[in-house]
Amino acid sequence: MSTRSLVARPCPDGGWEGRYVHSDGNPDFMVPVLIAAQRCRFAGDQDALAAHLLSHEGGWEYLGDELIDPTPDLASMFAELGEGSCYCHDWDGGAPEPLATDDDVRGTDHIEWIYVLRPEGLEVISTRRDRDDLRGPVLPWDTNLHQPISETAFHRWRPTTPPPTRLARPPRVAPPAPATAAQFISRKPAAR
Ligand SMILES: [Zn+2]
Repeated sequence: MSTRSLVARPCPDGGWEGRYVHSDGNPDFMVPVLIAAQRCRFAGDQDALAAHLLSHEGGWEYLGDELIDPTPDLASMFAELGEGSCYCHDWDGGAPEPLATDDDVRGTDHIEWIYVLRPEGLEVISTRRDRDDLRGPVLPWDTNLHQPISETAFHRWRPTTPPPTRLARPPRVAPPAPATAAQFISRKPAAR
C-alpha cells in the first residue's frame, strides 16, 4: 500500500496549497528528500523548490534524486534513490489538477501526510492526528539528516510539544516501489 501525501507551500491567508504525491509519502522518505533538495539543488530557497514541485500540474507519482544533487556529505544517503516521476511529463493521461487545500484534505481520508515548505523549515503534518487541526512540527532546514526522526515521533507530536528530535533508525531512502495505481494510465515508452 503506497502512502499518499501532499507537498505544499504556505498561502498569505495562513493556509497552504499543495500538489499530490502518490507513493512513498511517509516521513522516513519525504523528510530527507525535501530537506536535502532545499539545501542542495535549491541552495536554501524553499520557495523555488515549492514552485518546482507545484509546477508539475498532474501531480507526482513519487519524488526522486533529480531534486537533490546531493553535497558530498549526503551523497551516500541518496545513492540508491533513482529518478522521480510525475503524471504530467512521464505518463499519458495525467491531466492538470487544481492545487489541493486543507478543505480537500478534510474531505478525504486517503492523504496521510502533508509537507509544507515554510521559510523556517519543513512542517510535517499527520492527517491522522486531528483532521480539523492540520498542524505539525516544523523541522528547521538545517536539521541533521544523519539523525533521522521516527514516524512514531511525528504521530505523537501535539501542538503543545516541541518538534521531535529523537534519534531513530537510519533513513529508508531506497528506490520507490512501483506505483499500484498504474492500471488506469499507460506509461509512455522510454522517452521523457
Ligand atoms: Zn510533470
